[in-house]
Amino acid sequence: MDESLVCGLIGTGIGKSLTPAMHEREGAAQGLRYVYRIVDIEALALTVDDLPRLVDTAADLGFRGLNITHPFKQSVIDVLDELSDDAAKLGAVNTVLFDQGKKIGHNTDWSGFGRSFELGLAGVRMDQVAQIGAGGAGAAVAYALASKGVRTLTVIDADPGRARSAARSLESMFPATEFAAAGPADIAGVLAAADGVVHATPVGMVAHPGVAFDPSLLRPQTWVAEVVYRPAKTELLIAAESRGCRTLSGTGMAVHQAADAFEIFTGRPADAIRMSAHMQELIGREDTTSLAGALS
Ligand code: NAD
Repeated sequence: MDESLVCGLIGTGIGKSLTPAMHEREGAAQGLRYVYRIVDIEALALTVDDLPRLVDTAADLGFRGLNITHPFKQSVIDVLDELSDDAAKLGAVNTVLFDQGKKIGHNTDWSGFGRSFELGLAGVRMDQVAQIGAGGAGAAVAYALASKGVRTLTVIDADPGRARSAARSLESMFPATEFAAAGPADIAGVLAAADGVVHATPVGMVAHPGVAFDPSLLRPQTWVAEVVYRPAKTELLIAAESRGCRTLSGTGMAVHQAADAFEIFTGRPADAIRMSAHMQELIGREDTTSLAGALS
């Protein structure tokens, strides 16, 4: 049997994350001795100041790598030796590989969304796309959409400054895409012309029920991609389906970001279909009333 592999996830409020189970089950299915630990900064009563020590300790203890989640995806960069091209452009890291004495940052949030999009919304029109939410997940999604050649991407956020800075930071990287920023008051006008909309705010999570915008604004020909994945079927997806829209659940992004991280850690491709089936099983099994703050 191969040597054992230890990886982990650093973040806050991640005690109920599904990521360890997904990684360990895939590792076992591939015959690896693969252990994936949770390092919950909140539960350990630590702060962001402890992050460099935790990352260095994991490297010293022989961890193969770490996933990094909210709220450390930007701050971890200061601790690293190298970044992948995409992580450097995004200014965010969710995967750290310890390799030959170096700590190398990657970002699989954008590649995970991109892969899920290719599989779930193949062939859709991408001339005019609206994105609601310009936070951490929104940055990765916008990067993936621009990489796919969206002609005009309008970023909408309750915080107009965030929408503007997300749009501005992508402009120089993707000259073929036109970026616009807008506020919630503009949603009706933007959706009237949109081929598709991606939702990337926390609204719709178990802890934040609801829909971030009025779904009656959706036209049947508009595709809808969700980033929230717990629950797997958000109120937005239910409303969009009932209006006849093509939809994409946030579970695909969650599975593919984990599959891409698995490959970085182990050097072996993950079986994303097997991981997806496992995730559906985990989500189906859980008590949705006890999920608050359980995301990774
Ligand atoms: P964040 O706090 O970094 O950003 C959220 C953004 O949404 C903020 O800019 C906020 O101003 C904006 N916002 C909130 N309510 C709004 C509204 N009603 N209208 C317009 N804008 C609004 O959060 P995040 O880290 O980007 O996470 C967002 C969601 O994405 C969470 O539910 C998270 O769990 C999910 N997520 C999913 C995956 C996945 O793999 N599927 C990965 C990362 C994050």
